[in-house]
Amino acid sequence: MIEKQIYICSTCEKPYEEKDQAVYCEAAHLHPREIFSAGYSKTGRGYRIPDLLTVKFSDDSVEHYRLDQPEDDDGVFDFS
Ligand SMILES: [Zn+2]
Repeated sequence: MIEKQIYICSTCEKPYEEKDQAVYCEAAHLHPREIFSAGYSKTGRGYRIPDLLTVKFSDDSVEHYRLDQPEDDDGVFDFS
């Protein structure tokens, strides 16, 4: 029997045969460092949880993320 060792990126879990490749993969991922701002809506899911986030990453880049609204969301928050 031949045993084979693999290396797995701890961020995306992609397997590699070479350790250097897994190390490179881990270093290539940008990680969120700070939530810059959180936007809320007057109704719907975005009333309770932010529907727009602005996130700063480990390389100082900034990205915006919008909450997906489900098809059956009528846009009205139920207070009951
Ligand atoms: Zn990876």
